[in-house]
Amino acid sequence: MHKYYKIILSMSIKKKIILIFSASFAIIAIFGISATFDLLETRKEFNFLKISDSIRSKVLQIRRHEKNYFLYGNLSEIEKIQNYLEETYELIREGKKINAPDRNLIQLELKIKDYSTRFYNITELATVISDAINRLSMNNNKYRFIIPFMRTTFMEHPEKVMTTLKQFHSFDNNSKLNHNLKKIKTQIDGLRKTGEEIINIARELDRGARYRVQSIIKASEVGIRVIFPLSFFFGFITLFLVTQNIVKRLNELMITIKKTGEGYFSPLPFPSGKDEISTLIRTYNNMAEALKEREMQLIKKEEELIQHRKLAAIGILASGVAHELNNPLNNIHLSAQILERETEPDSKLMVKETIEDILSQSLRVKKIVGDLLEFARERKPEMARINLPDLIKNVYSQVEKISSSEDIRFSVISSGEVYISVDPEQMERVLLNLFTNAVDAMSGKGDLIVRVSPDEDVVKIEVSDTGPGIPEDTVNKIFDPFFTTKDRGTGLGLSIVYNIIKNHYGRVEVKSSCGQGTTFTIYLPREI
Ligand code: ADP
Repeated sequence: MHKYYKIILSMSIKKKIILIFSASFAIIAIFGISATFDLLETRKEFNFLKISDSIRSKVLQIRRHEKNYFLYGNLSEIEKIQNYLEETYELIREGKKINAPDRNLIQLELKIKDYSTRFYNITELATVISDAINRLSMNNNKYRFIIPFMRTTFMEHPEKVMTTLKQFHSFDNNSKLNHNLKKIKTQIDGLRKTGEEIINIARELDRGARYRVQSIIKASEVGIRVIFPLSFFFGFITLFLVTQNIVKRLNELMITIKKTGEGYFSPLPFPSGKDEISTLIRTYNNMAEALKEREMQLIKKEEELIQHRKLAAIGILASGVAHELNNPLNNIHLSAQILERETEPDSKLMVKETIEDILSQSLRVKKIVGDLLEFARERKPEMARINLPDLIKNVYSQVEKISSSEDIRFSVISSGEVYISVDPEQMERVLLNLFTNAVDAMSGKGDLIVRVSPDEDVVKIEVSDTGPGIPEDTVNKIFDPFFTTKDRGTGLGLSIVYNIIKNHYGRVEVKSSCGQGTTFTIYLPREI
């Protein structure tokens, strides 16, 4: 039962409606057909009852007229009995048309035939006996007084007639009249017995017909009182359960959709069924999932936007500060250069070292200010053709001035001159940042190798150091602006490298293994 309920629930609503409609239609059709059959059967049985009732009354009439005939010898009774017999035959024929195999009807037909034959024989014999009695009175005067008695009694009491003839008139036992009287007695006894049987059969027939009619009425009553309400009840229960299930799930969906509208994404339990509501729930769940995803993306984008705005604000601030610092810084650097030039060769070592320190520190600050300005302005590259190995060497000489790089073995591996179209100032900044980072990473001791590999269209520049490498968990953050692991770093160097290379339609990659060193690889198109 539960299994069928589950199967019904898993059907589509369309199928459920069709099923309920078909089931109701089938029940009504079954009831309609059975009611029609019942009606036909009832009519048939009523007709049969009418016939059996008529047979019973006809048979009683036959018996009544038979009694009269035997009692009074009235010849008109013969015709009446024959008529009734004929009518009974007719009724049996009609009855057979309705209910041919009825045992009582078949038996009754046989008995009526038997009765007819016997009655016919009796009437024939009665005529013979009557003639014989008449002849007796004509031949012998002594019978004159008993003739009327004999005529009226020979059929009802043939034995009395025989006894009277014997006692009073020494009648011959073996005479024909005596023989016929014996014969008619036997025939009448037989006829009465058959008549009795006919009445019993007719009653049985009538009882049977009545019983069948009552059974049909009872069955119809059961149909109307029990089966009809039961099927209505089950139909109603099924409809109630199905609609209840649909309404319940729709309500749940409605509540959840309302929550979704308020911004709470709660999926409904995944439905197992296949009907339209289950499909709706599944579609809703997918939609809620997509909405949740989109909401997350929106939050992420919002965070990025805030970060971007923060960066922009910092950039504006930094560029403002950098602008203000640039002129005095240039003056300091220029003044230090003049001082270096004007210093006597025999001046104190401390003075010479101090001037050198001012020069290198001002250069380092100039690099920072330059980074800040580059980061803030994001200008488009202005292309010029340069020889890359020359630029590399030139930049490294600047690095030497900023950082202590006496123990760094610097080398450029390149097959001669490599000309490329770049913004020289921006390319210089790229190399400056990469070299400074490498020197910083190696703490002033190690190998810095720059390999230039020109292709037909692309130039590959690899900057490798033998520093400690970049830990795996930070390698994907190093290009983010303001990410730094240094005490006095700005975290702008690699972000500037990334942007400049991007603006040159190139790309930059990093490969690093802890304890072995780091290699930054730049791919640049030779001509843009
Ligand atoms: P900053 O030099 O001011 O820290 P960068 O953007 O140039 O900013 O570098 C970001 C970080 O990347 C550095 O702080 C450092 O941790 C790491 N890094 C960059 N280059 C190297 C390198 N060659 N070897 C090891 N770590 C490096």
